[in-house]
Amino acid sequence: MEQRETEAVDVLIAGGGPAGLSAALVLGRACKRVWLCDAGARRNAAATHIHGFVTRDGTPPEEFRRIGREQLAPYDITFREEQVVTVTPLGGENGFHVRLEGGTQVRARRVLLALGAVDEPPALPGMREAWGHSAFQCPHCHGWEIRGKAWGVLLDSVPLVDFAIMLTGWTRNVTAFTRGTFALPPEARERLTMAGVRLETGPLERLLVEADGVLRGAQRMDGTVVPLDALFLKPKQHLPPLVRTLGLALDDAGYVRVSPQCETSIPGLFAAGDVTTPVQTAMGAAYQGALTGWTMVHGLNIHAEPPHP
Ligand SMILES: Cc1cc2nc3c(=O)[nH]c(=O)nc-3n(C[C@H](O)[C@H](O)[C@H](O)COP(=O)(O)OP(=O)(O)OC[C@H]3O[C@@H](n4cnc5c(N)ncnc54)[C@H](O)[C@@H]3O)c2cc1C
Repeated sequence: MEQRETEAVDVLIAGGGPAGLSAALVLGRACKRVWLCDAGARRNAAATHIHGFVTRDGTPPEEFRRIGREQLAPYDITFREEQVVTVTPLGGENGFHVRLEGGTQVRARRVLLALGAVDEPPALPGMREAWGHSAFQCPHCHGWEIRGKAWGVLLDSVPLVDFAIMLTGWTRNVTAFTRGTFALPPEARERLTMAGVRLETGPLERLLVEADGVLRGAQRMDGTVVPLDALFLKPKQHLPPLVRTLGLALDDAGYVRVSPQCETSIPGLFAAGDVTTPVQTAMGAAYQGALTGWTMVHGLNIHAEPPHP
């Protein structure tokens, strides 16, 4: 691979979703030189609108990112549509050596991983077509538009009973599907019954989904159908490969462990957004990105490190 001359920046941000864009805004406005590298699938690629983000409720995700980038134009921020492939700590206050997939080398005093997380919806036929259109991960994001309708929820473990019951705040018409994956304890069944959540324990054949991702129902193995307008689930996730290659400390849930200021187990290397938490929203990611920016600026200015040559 072609080796390019090393660029020197104050901060390199890997990931240009809400967390990365928000950090870039704070850093740019603090006179920092920033590279923002973003490439690969964004987490909410299948969604048509972002909801619950103040001033941006109902904005398509691409438009959200376009506005974010546009508002960074006045600042010393360089966008690269390239994957960050390696981040190597140089020790002490020497910062990091970063390599992009095209071969460009960057020396950065601080690095932010705003890489997002990768969903793994279950291999249920129809799920891929419905995901983001009528199968959702979060009722706060997509519940209002379909309140009062027939909702299903995939109940893959006992802790998700709370999630199923919470959905009844948007509609009284909720059916929970265990799909034969585990035996629900009697007390959990009782709680669902008390909350008015119907329970289906048998396996499902498929989701019935129309061409535009509109859900019509969940088909049982005997061919009968539970009519549904939407399905909620908490899919498994994995973190982007860069996290693993760095050997960062993870929390018990498998997300990057960070300090209250979003610093990882490697000093000077920060992480923000979905990569750090299972509680994942655009607003939360943007806040963490901003917090990271403030922390970095404080550290860089207070330590008054000499700028890169
Ligand atoms: C279907 C769906 C709908 C959603 N709807 C809503 C909603 O309505 N409201 C809401 O608040 N939240 C919603 N969310 C959650 C929201 O999208 C996330 O919480 C938010 O996008 C997280 O922001 P982030 O910046 O952490 O990560 P992301 O937005 O995922 O951005 C990370 C970026 O980093 C890139 N990247 C990964 N690895 C590298 C690398 N090595 N180098 C360079 N770039 C890299 C990725 O390709 C991606 O573009 C939804 C999620 C899903 C799945």
